[in-house]
Amino acid sequence: MNETSFAELKKYKDQYNTDYSIGDLTPTVCEINDWPVPAQSGGTPVAMVVDHAQRLFGGEGKNEKTFIYCPDAIGDIHYKHYPEELKKVERLAGIKLLSSGVMPSVTPVCFGTIFSGASPQVHGITQYAKPVLTVETLFDSAAAAGKKAVIVSVNTCSIDMIFRKRKIEYISTRTDASSRDFAEKLLRWYDYDLIVCYSTDYDHLSHHTGCDSEESVTALKTCVRYFEDFARLTDEIWGKYNRTLIWAPDHGNHPVDEKSGTHGANVPEDMLVNHFYRIKAGEK
Ligand SMILES: [Zn+2]
Repeated sequence: MNETSFAELKKYKDQYNTDYSIGDLTPTVCEINDWPVPAQSGGTPVAMVVDHAQRLFGGEGKNEKTFIYCPDAIGDIHYKHYPEELKKVERLAGIKLLSSGVMPSVTPVCFGTIFSGASPQVHGITQYAKPVLTVETLFDSAAAAGKKAVIVSVNTCSIDMIFRKRKIEYISTRTDASSRDFAEKLLRWYDYDLIVCYSTDYDHLSHHTGCDSEESVTALKTCVRYFEDFARLTDEIWGKYNRTLIWAPDHGNHPVDEKSGTHGANVPEDMLVNHFYRIKAGEK
């Protein structure tokens, strides 16, 4: 446990009065899979997730397959504004963790924390920049445990850039639709233990057309549909494995005016997100 990371994550949990931080994802996924936790992590394994997994898997049972879906910029504000959509994710998942983010609430800073458990001061990305992270990450943990991991994302996006140089594979796509289709192919034709799939369209469109424009809302609904697809596909293809599917956005957003949205501020609209966990026991 890194004390600096712990204190920085706690600062935002205290400010927003949340039980969880986005920095809890990596230590939680490590705990249920029995992977080593990154040395710089200050996150806390989420007891509700760990206990639920233990109950389902029984005894010494561990999680075996993990799929993490990352829809950029869909925050708690969207859960409030579009409940009919986000409740679909909640119903499929079962576990909802209202989590505070980190500052500045921009993509590389937040995903840096989500996939390392380290706070921005510790992982080193403290502004909108995409250097390769030097702290340990979830991907190093998976590799150290002898597991096969892959990141599928549009090329040159943050998540495509900052986790390079790991002993994992990278699929760098042109579009979100292509990322979703590659993720399905990876599930069907390969045998990965950890798949991360990222969607940029909602974030991109919200910046250029507004948080609640018709184009943006269509993109948000597409993210929900992809999560439904991944739930169905992981049940179908990973059915014999203990498995976990996670909805893990980086931050929310807020309007600048009717035609543009932004994020990066220390305000609830940007800083509060829901991470949803869907945990299933394999049919042995
Ligand atoms: Zn983002």
